[in-house]
Amino acid sequence: MRLSHHYVVPHVSTGDMLRAAVKQGTAMGLKAKDQMDRGELLGDDLVMEMVAERLGESDVRARGFILDGCPRTVAQAEQLASLLAPFDLDLAIDIEIHTSQVCVDCGANYSLSAPPLINWTCDVCGGEVVQREDDTEDAIERRLKLYERQTAPLIEWYRDRNQLESVPGTGSPDAVTRRMVKVIEQRRERKGGRLT
Ligand SMILES: [Zn+2]
Repeated sequence: MRLSHHYVVPHVSTGDMLRAAVKQGTAMGLKAKDQMDRGELLGDDLVMEMVAERLGESDVRARGFILDGCPRTVAQAEQLASLLAPFDLDLAIDIEIHTSQVCVDCGANYSLSAPPLINWTCDVCGGEVVQREDDTEDAIERRLKLYERQTAPLIEWYRDRNQLESVPGTGSPDAVTRRMVKVIEQRRERKGGRLT
């Protein structure tokens, strides 16, 4: 969201679109809700149908866009590439989140290797930092498996195409945005081209 404000381009968030579709009870929303209620991951086709519809609108065609929450799988990345052809994504940014602690007030993320300066007190707002609730062994195990099966191949896919930058996800949302802007600008300088 902050990044799209910085570059004044549309923020296309699959999470937002999905919540809206479910709330409005559209055909796509009902299908998504059904999949989620059964505890399934959303199907690639469903996600990409939603993204394709949004990326067909004139504002994203004119100014470029920031796509948030997608692709999550190699299949989605492939569909996205053919959807955007003959153009392609300028850049995929992997926000690395190994966080286990979060500020309850501002949402800043911390990890064991980058904890708050004062124990359990947020560097950004002074709020209370707590252990993430979903940090049970089961949840960690599930996240690791999902990472190996889905995220790691996706990261490789973009790295092979020289379209990947990674930034650490720790710290305040503003700090993470600053890191993203920095890698985008560095790419821009190297390529000398338009990049949004
Ligand atoms: Zn805070």
